[in-house]
Amino acid sequence: MSWDQARAVGALTKVQQALRRTNPTTLAHLERTRDPFRLLVACIISLRTKDAVTAQASQRLLAEAPTAQELARLAEDRIAQLIYPAGFYRTKARQLKRLAQELLEQYQGHVPRERAALLALPGVGRKTANLVLGLGFGVPAICVDTHVHRIANRLGLVRTRHPAETEQALEHLLPQKWWIPLNDLLVRFGQQVCTPRWPRCSSCTLGQECPRVGVSKAR
Ligand code: SF4
Repeated sequence: MSWDQARAVGALTKVQQALRRTNPTTLAHLERTRDPFRLLVACIISLRTKDAVTAQASQRLLAEAPTAQELARLAEDRIAQLIYPAGFYRTKARQLKRLAQELLEQYQGHVPRERAALLALPGVGRKTANLVLGLGFGVPAICVDTHVHRIANRLGLVRTRHPAETEQALEHLLPQKWWIPLNDLLVRFGQQVCTPRWPRCSSCTLGQECPRVGVSKAR
């Protein structure tokens, strides 16, 4: 393992320790079933939406439409009604309806386990595709959202400008066993400790290992 890799793994292990006593709220925990269809639907609803709203909206929709067949049968207005007040609920309702139709037409109602096929589905970007691959299918993939991008840069693990570059840089840096849990780890850390504006540095376990506190480039 290179020094960079060892440093990254050391920092992430400390992040894990910092989160031991906190309450999980991320998608990985909201959707415990690891069912690819449920994850896909919840992830689409979650974009620009708070976790608590996502959880309730997903539960309402998936209770009425637990499969692609049932979702395709729902009217767009009904989907919008069920997922309200998720952000952009009308756009998402349209995407979810089309998503269900495409899953039926192309994959007999199943979610494909290839990234390219996932990315071709309505409403699915790289972040969603990687989340479904990792949590739904156990295929190693790094789901980079704003928290992962921000914290990986703040910790000095990567120096990137866009989430796609961050994904690539982290793939090179981290052993594969960190890829799937990384999103959950850094999202929770970003929400509860290393917040964007006022990070709680005084109670953070990273301490001198964080470049932001200005000490730890020494080996
Ligand atoms: S020391 Fe502060 S900036 Fe660094 S990881 Fe911890 S909370 Fe974030």
